[in-house]
Amino acid sequence: ETNLRRALDTGDQLSVHYQPKLDLNTRTIVGLEALLRWHHPVRGNIPPGDFIPLAEQTGLVHLLTRRVLELVLDQMRTWLAEGQEIQVAVNLSALNLAEPDLDRKIADLLDEYGVPARLLEFEITERASATLSRIAAMGSTIALDDFGIGNTSISQLRDLPIDTLKIDRSFIVDMATAGGEVLVKVVTDLAHEFEMVAVAEGVEEADIAERLRAMGCDVAQGFLYARPVPA
Ligand code: C2E
Ligand code: MG
Ligand code: MG
Repeated sequence: ETNLRRALDTGDQLSVHYQPKLDLNTRTIVGLEALLRWHHPVRGNIPPGDFIPLAEQTGLVHLLTRRVLELVLDQMRTWLAEGQEIQVAVNLSALNLAEPDLDRKIADLLDEYGVPARLLEFEITERASATLSRIAAMGSTIALDDFGIGNTSISQLRDLPIDTLKIDRSFIVDMATAGGEVLVKVVTDLAHEFEMVAVAEGVEEADIAERLRAMGCDVAQGFLYARPVPA
């Protein structure tokens, strides 16, 4: 906790890497996911899977999300100045969504950096909140992350303002086994019935990408195309 607090204070230990999402049909980049990286001066790189839960337990996740948003919006401002208009997705934790004025803070930051709301997407794993509805109303899109293993039930697809369904990597990995494809097809169709974009997470092999394309999955993200990399 002390180290994370210091990292948030000093500013040069935290950075954001970006991983592209590709349209499976046109093979063009349709957006990026922002993934936070922590380089500790002594311990080296600490994976987000280790420090995000800590940030959530200690309440530091509010500062952390703010930092991510500032880093991302600063980068997007640079890209926009270069004529690169690309949508970036930022991960939110459940605690962020419980913040009643998060939408206000996001709106202020968008204003400060001169980035249109529609160029930000928010990836959530949790259930609805009034905050989420207000963020969606601002014009940013919402993606339901890790679908199939998270806390969201199917009925929430009807009730939540969701634009994109990200099919969890474990289901994509399962496509290598007999019968593994059925579940991914069902979720892809489910997404389309709700007029959502279906995104496959963790695509590592070309034949999996081809099978995803053939079954109608829209977008893929994974090491096959690119690992998360600096801007
Ligand atoms: P996530 O949002 O589901 O992000 C996707 C994770 O899958 C990333 O791990 C990414 O590096 C990894 N990945 C992408 N393609 C592949 C692939 O083909 N194979 C494999 N094996 N992995 C792949 P990463 O960067 O370690 O992040 C882990 C989790 O930490 C994220 O899962 C997200 O829940 C959380 N996280 C990362 N950055 C942030 C952040 O800024 N804020 C919050 N609240 N959570 C974050
Ligand atoms: Mg995500
Ligand atoms: Mg995910």
